[in-house]
Amino acid sequence: MWHSRNMLPTGAIAGFVFVFGLIIGSFLNVCISRLPEGKSVVAPRSRCPKCGAPIKPWDNIPVLSYVFLLGKCRACRTSISPIYPTVELVTGLLFLACYAAFGNSVVTAKWIAFCAILIVLVFTDWRERVLPDKVNFAGLAIGLLLSFFLHPEDGAALWLANHIFEFPPPTPVISFADALIGAIVGGGILWVIGEGYFRIRGREGMGLGDVKMMLMAGSFLGLRRTILTILLGAVLGMILGGIFMLASRKGSDYELPFGTFLGAAAVLVIFFGTPIVAWYQALFQIR
Ligand SMILES: [Zn+2]
Repeated sequence: MWHSRNMLPTGAIAGFVFVFGLIIGSFLNVCISRLPEGKSVVAPRSRCPKCGAPIKPWDNIPVLSYVFLLGKCRACRTSISPIYPTVELVTGLLFLACYAAFGNSVVTAKWIAFCAILIVLVFTDWRERVLPDKVNFAGLAIGLLLSFFLHPEDGAALWLANHIFEFPPPTPVISFADALIGAIVGGGILWVIGEGYFRIRGREGMGLGDVKMMLMAGSFLGLRRTILTILLGAVLGMILGGIFMLASRKGSDYELPFGTFLGAAAVLVIFFGTPIVAWYQALFQIR
């Protein structure tokens, strides 16, 4: 066949996507450790947090270096946190899952970008209770921009347009409106919950970081999957947070990393959101 020369076997592309994920994961580690402190993610080169020795390029190979160095700094033998190889591995696996689920398409690129953003937020919130503005706002910009190049998926904007206009607006406009609706509703719901909690309890229960995070996530997910993410995040928070509080006996004053649960929920929604929404709508005959 004349075109077979240009076609890489699927296994080779999958392998490339996985390795690409490991490398991006290595960069996400830098974001996770530096962004909460307001430091640059570009310079200087990574150093051992204990002895300050610069990490050599050949000691900075994702996952493998950690295994070869037995999880210790080459210079001072201090143990390196297993979070680093975990982030790399999770990134590689999620990129691979996006490719497996969505194939060779712009859609895959969109979900890969979303996964990378979520991984940073999940870990900064878990470790430092911080959801950096830089990540949220850059993510929101990416989500809104990408919506112009993808077909509308949610249906909310199309439903609205059909009720307002005689003729449906062009596809990119509908798609952008879906992203905008998702962002506004996602951020809005969390703002209302946070404000309500503050009025009732008299103290901050949820930071604006969670609001901005859902503003960002909404632009990728659209209305329905955004609502699903918030519900799922709340359920995960109650179950996992409850178990953690019981196990560590930290009591109800312990601040849960809600952004971590929202991020985990959003990842689940990428892969299972559409069938869950369809099942729910069939169940209640909503269209
Ligand atoms: Zn060291």
